[in-house]
Amino acid sequence: MFNKTMQHLGEERSVIRELFEYGTARKAEIGEENVFDFSIGNPSVPAPAFVQDEIKRLIDTTPPEVLHGYTSAAGAPAVREAVAAYIQRQFGVPVSENLIYMTCGAAASLAITVTALCEEGDEFIVIAPFFPEYRIFVEGAGAKLVVVPSDGRFHLDFEALERAIGPHTKGILLNSPNNPTGAVISEEELRTLAALLEQKSLEKGEPIFLIADEPYRELTYGAEVPYPMRFYHETIVCYSFSKSLSLAGERIGYIAVSPFACRAGEIAAAVAGAGRKLGYVCAPSLFQRVCAASLGKVSDVGAYRKNRDLLYDALTSYGYECVPPEGAFYLFVKALEEDAVAFSERAKKHELLLVPSDSFGVNGYVRISYCVSRATIERSLPAFQALYREYR
Ligand code: PLP
Repeated sequence: MFNKTMQHLGEERSVIRELFEYGTARKAEIGEENVFDFSIGNPSVPAPAFVQDEIKRLIDTTPPEVLHGYTSAAGAPAVREAVAAYIQRQFGVPVSENLIYMTCGAAASLAITVTALCEEGDEFIVIAPFFPEYRIFVEGAGAKLVVVPSDGRFHLDFEALERAIGPHTKGILLNSPNNPTGAVISEEELRTLAALLEQKSLEKGEPIFLIADEPYRELTYGAEVPYPMRFYHETIVCYSFSKSLSLAGERIGYIAVSPFACRAGEIAAAVAGAGRKLGYVCAPSLFQRVCAASLGKVSDVGAYRKNRDLLYDALTSYGYECVPPEGAFYLFVKALEEDAVAFSERAKKHELLLVPSDSFGVNGYVRISYCVSRATIERSLPAFQALYREYR
C-alpha cells in the first residue's frame, strides 16, 4: 500500500527531538528558567546584523519575481560564482562555479552527494561517534554504512580505518569540527588520511571519495580547520550556513566538488542529477543571495567560546570527564554509569536534558549542546553538581 521503510523512518523516535519536546512540555509546566535544555543544536546567537540588513536590501532592490522565483537548479549563476571566488580566495583552491551546487543545508548536501556517488554494493565509512542522520542518508541511497571507531580522544584511528576500507568502499564521511565531540581534524591527520585513501584507491582501481561535512567550519576556539581539497583530490565539501550564520531554519548551503578530482565535471553532473532525483529543484532563492553577500561573515563565536569555557571548567571541576572541545558547540561528557540512556533519565530528575550517546554510535556518553544562553548554563551548574554527588 505504501513504503514501510519510510513509515518506519517517519515513526522512529529521534532521541534528540524527543528530549527537546519533553523540554518544551516541562518548561510549560515548571517555568522556562527551571529547565536546562541542552538537547538540540539550534544556534543561540543571532545572525550577524549584516544578514538582516542584506535581507532588507534585497527585498527593497530586487524585483520580487527574481527574488522569489526559481533559480537554476544548481543555484543562481552569480551566487555560484561568488561561492567559487570565495573558496579560491580563502583556501587557494581554483574551483569554478560549475563545481558549486547550492543546497538546502548540509543535510541536503550530504543526501545529494551520497546519492550522486552511490552504486550497487557500495559502502560508506563513518567515524563513531557520528551525526545520526548519516545512517539515513547512506542507507537511503541503498549503500551500507560502515562504522569505524575513533581513537580515545575522538580523532582518527588509522589502523581501524585501514582495516575497514575494502573493495566496496565508495567514500568516507568526515565531520570536522565534530558533532558531537567538538574534535577538529588537524592538517597532519588529513595528510595521513589522504595518503591512506590514495593507497586504497590505487588498490581498488578507482577513487575513494572524501565527503567533508563542514557546517561547523568557522566555529572553532583557536584550532585551524584545514581545507580538505588541499590535501586530497577526490574531495567533495558539504557546507551549510545553518551554524556559521545562525540560519538553520532557512535551509541553505552548498556542495563544492574539488577541481582536482579525476572526473570533477562528471561528478558535478551526478550531484545535479541526484538533487533532481531527490526533488530539490533549487535552494531557497532569497537566501542564496543573502549568503553570497555574507561569505566569510560569522555569528558571534565568542559567545559559544564563553559558554564552552564556563561549562567545561565547571563540569571538570565537579569531577566529570570530558575531552575539551576544539570547535562546534557540543561537549561530549562521560556518563556516570555505563548505560547513557539511564544516566540521561537520571539527569532529567535534575531538569538537565542531555542526549545519550547511543544514537551517535557509541555508548557511555552524553552530548551537551552549549548553544544556549549563558544564564541557562549558570543556573544549571548546581544541578550538574547535585547529579554528580548522587553517583559519588
Ligand atoms: N552535519 C552535522 C554534523 C550536523 O551537526 C548537522 C546539523 O546539526 C547537519 C549536518 C545538518 O545541518 P543543516 O542544518 O545545514 O542541514
